[in-house]
Amino acid sequence: MVGENMDYEIPITGTDIWYYYICHREVWLMKHQIAPDQEDESLDLGRFISEMYYKRSTKELSIGNIVIDRIRQEDGQLVVGEVKKSSRYMKSAKMQLLYYLDHLRQMGIQAKGELLFPEERKKETVEWTEEAKQELERAIGHIQRIVRMSVPPKPKKIQFCAKCAYREYCWAEE
Ligand code: SF4
Repeated sequence: MVGENMDYEIPITGTDIWYYYICHREVWLMKHQIAPDQEDESLDLGRFISEMYYKRSTKELSIGNIVIDRIRQEDGQLVVGEVKKSSRYMKSAKMQLLYYLDHLRQMGIQAKGELLFPEERKKETVEWTEEAKQELERAIGHIQRIVRMSVPPKPKKIQFCAKCAYREYCWAEE
């Protein structure tokens, strides 16, 4: 249960999980509410996130503190769908959906996950397993440790930096 584990002390969101698999420094900056460069509209964090969380349908469903894009039944099982614009950050998307599945499970709802990439005509299934849950817990524990650090992890140049709202902050000297 959330709250029973020390690792859950700092509230973790699906967005935190998504960023964790991209950049640990970004997780730290966001959790410490360091405002990204507001001047540069093209790098606006909110806009970037909404692009990544491409929604075709406005029929979202809120359960607790999670928002689900689509929900359907298949052979008597609940299937939770998450629509994404691109499959580029597949690991992040999978682990974020797994986090939702795990949350639902803690509420007594057993569901299967489905990542939908309409522009790529692609679909990826995500299933809750003990192994996946362990990986998720390790990630959550690591996020907790990252957030507790007194300074952010050093920046590492990755492809994502080019679109990141913190680009100026991390690479101002370059
Ligand atoms: S600019 Fe790069 S290193 Fe800095 S927070 Fe963004 S992704 Fe991480």
